[in-house]
Amino acid sequence: MIPSLLIENGTVLALDSRAACLAGHSVLIEGDRISRIGPARAFRGFKGRTIDASRKVVMPGLINAHTHCYSAFARGMTRAKPSASFDEVLKHLWWRLDSALTTEDCHISALLAMIESIRHGTTTIIDHHSSPSAVGGSLNAISRAAKETGIRACLCYEISDRHGPRIAEAGLRENAGFIRRCARRNEPGLRALLGLHASFTISDRTLAAAALAGGELGSGFHIHVAEAQGDQDDCRRRHKLRVVERLEKFGILGERSLAAHCVHVSRREMDILAGTRTPVIHNPQSNLNNAVGIADVGAMIGRGVLVGLGTDAMTTNMLEELRVALWARHLRADNPSAGLSELGAALFSNNPRIASRIFGLPLGALREGAMADIAIFDYDPPTPLESGNAMGHAIFGLSQAPVDTTIVGGRILMEGRRLAIDIDERRVNARARERAKDLWKRL
Ligand SMILES: [Zn+2]
Repeated sequence: MIPSLLIENGTVLALDSRAACLAGHSVLIEGDRISRIGPARAFRGFKGRTIDASRKVVMPGLINAHTHCYSAFARGMTRAKPSASFDEVLKHLWWRLDSALTTEDCHISALLAMIESIRHGTTTIIDHHSSPSAVGGSLNAISRAAKETGIRACLCYEISDRHGPRIAEAGLRENAGFIRRCARRNEPGLRALLGLHASFTISDRTLAAAALAGGELGSGFHIHVAEAQGDQDDCRRRHKLRVVERLEKFGILGERSLAAHCVHVSRREMDILAGTRTPVIHNPQSNLNNAVGIADVGAMIGRGVLVGLGTDAMTTNMLEELRVALWARHLRADNPSAGLSELGAALFSNNPRIASRIFGLPLGALREGAMADIAIFDYDPPTPLESGNAMGHAIFGLSQAPVDTTIVGGRILMEGRRLAIDIDERRVNARARERAKDLWKRL
């Protein structure tokens, strides 16, 4: 049993639909849940463990709804040829990198990404993994890193036919085995989805097999959808369908599935996503970096699509991703006032809804009964901070402020900017540098 913990006298900030900014408040955690939030004076005489949050902002832990931990090894890599298109980005960089990964690389890169997430107050990640030369056991290796760091993680392996049917079948087996194991163990920190790369690298045969397995396992899917126009062009040429139509035909969509990107979807496809209650995960930094376009999140939200926010591994800082989402929206809408409430809702309301569905737990909320996943920012606001202007502070202030303390399920993972878990970060980094050097040589 985790002992009770009192986060004392902070500015408690929730930016979901019930936006609240409560100065001089404390948060009591009992076990893995928040049991009470109230004025600091109401907890006088508390005898247990405390964290002083004065001159700090206490927020719900942030959720990254789409990322790739293995990308941690791409930082500083110069061996990829320059790419002139998204297709080339995949061929020159990502498909060479993922093909060179060993099982140990999967574990170490996951540790890197998870530690960095904790440092940025990100308490839940939804990962999408690929390591075609080390498929079997890869999800176990990543889940080991999740257990070691204490972060909440939902994992999947991306099935693809790009390395032939044998690797596609291995991908399906890896997903199925891991989904069963997760269901059996039912640990609150670990979930699984059935991963698919993207329509343009998956044959009808593989898609049908994955859909059948997903149905039998009762699992949702996690797939890249129309990230670049090429995915639509391929789908039209080979299947005479739009990408979302093809996924609907095979039963891949639904409220427990995730459609990452959706940069190039038509109005009709948006209606299918809304009708099937499929969440779309917007990853603006990645889309800008790959020059694939900017998803029309305004139109999607307007048509009833639940839009969440991911980073596609561009960062582990969700507030940074929110900032860029906003700048991208301004540019796309040719309007410097567009999208603030919609994109704020994507991170602070929709990501919690999406993660709560997947984990079957109340995540991403600062209220009594919610899971005690909390980020405490070292932020003493230089201008007034209140409910009505808190989103501006999140974007222009908190996104630039260091996270002091990160808590997942009542367990302190970082305190006073120091990791509080049994991991030697220097050793992890040293080993990662060795592995990365070796990996880059193998490309
Ligand atoms: Zn991705």
